[in-house]
Amino acid sequence: MALSFAGPLAEELAADVLERFLRYVRVDTQAEYRASRRPSTEKQLELSRMLLEELRELGLDDGELTDGSAVFASLRGSSGAPVIGLIAHVDTTPDVTGGGVKPIVHQDWGGEAIVLPGDERQVLDPGQLPELAARVGHDIVTSDGTTLLGADDKAGIAEIMSALAYLVRHPERPRAPIRVAFTVDEEVGRGAEEFDLHTFGADVAYTLDGSGLGELEIETFSAKSIRVTIRGLSVHPGSAKGKLVNAVKLAAGLVTSLPAGRLSPETTEGREGYVHPHRISGGAEEATVDFIARDHDDVLLEQHVQLLRDLAAQVAELEPRALVEVEVRDSYRNMRPYIEKTPRVVEAAVEAIRRAGVEPKIAITRGGTDGAVLSALGLPTPNLFTGGQEYHSVREWASVQDMAAAAATIVELVGVWSEPG
Ligand SMILES: [Zn+2]
Repeated sequence: MALSFAGPLAEELAADVLERFLRYVRVDTQAEYRASRRPSTEKQLELSRMLLEELRELGLDDGELTDGSAVFASLRGSSGAPVIGLIAHVDTTPDVTGGGVKPIVHQDWGGEAIVLPGDERQVLDPGQLPELAARVGHDIVTSDGTTLLGADDKAGIAEIMSALAYLVRHPERPRAPIRVAFTVDEEVGRGAEEFDLHTFGADVAYTLDGSGLGELEIETFSAKSIRVTIRGLSVHPGSAKGKLVNAVKLAAGLVTSLPAGRLSPETTEGREGYVHPHRISGGAEEATVDFIARDHDDVLLEQHVQLLRDLAAQVAELEPRALVEVEVRDSYRNMRPYIEKTPRVVEAAVEAIRRAGVEPKIAITRGGTDGAVLSALGLPTPNLFTGGQEYHSVREWASVQDMAAAAATIVELVGVWSEPG
């Protein structure tokens, strides 16, 4: 067993990380799309308040729930060292139910397929999951197959909390001052909203919201959301000849006019971008299609948006009686150019991952993070691994050993930052 730990610090932290993780995932914090209130669901704050209480018990007594619904707290460190922000999000994705999570720990996992008992169609097959296959002998945590696990991002929260608890127990350990933030609504793209950088007061920050062991993500997509609204002319079908303009058919036509076999999430990988229709709603009178467009390259992203505008214009041209409206909103920008301005933010993380006993891997994410928004606002914030896998799925899983390695990385990271740069 001990062999599967990244190092002695990870081994020491493992029990506490697991205990916290199993507690946090039981709190339902599922977010909701397109809610006007903030947070999108009140229940997210149950976990926020619980964390605030635990931070106070640890002695971080300046903890507060901000106007932006984030938990902020500080841990003092060497004077003169930069202030390091550690960020994770309390909410889980609206896409998979997050209520009634019953976590299962498959201790000292032997390498066999893991059948989730709540729904036996849900199988974690190591033959198809190389990351899992590489973790024989680890303690693997899953849900029972009827809900997500919530490692995204409760693994990140448990790791930050365990690292803080360890640092409180070991005041002799050198460390930079720390600011902690637990945000809401990251999964609906609003995690960094109302995030007061001045109050937060960190010089650099890290989100603990990544995945595979040792990964440090310094590059995200740039993303926009596009809503196409089509207004037809609704008439009783009995007397519709020559009059009815059916918005449902026009919306369907728009979706089928997208390029086939490319430029979609299901046909791309790596740095390739896409245009993705993710929601269609409405009736004959009016229909809306919601798209997201993503690319690592801002010029290509503009081209994807233009393609959608052209396709929408085509709908309007073929049916001049319809009204077609395109609304484009910025979601977040690729953080890489912002991060590259402060090279030490990457160097320190790479060094910390090594000191924790893990091989660092610089990675890109085909998504966004709170850090992408914060980086663009002037707080360089790359994304560190958490050890969770298969996010946004009932087959989500996490290795206790990898989560412990992430917690150890945090302890090492604030140590590296306390040293002269
Ligand atoms: Zn996340």
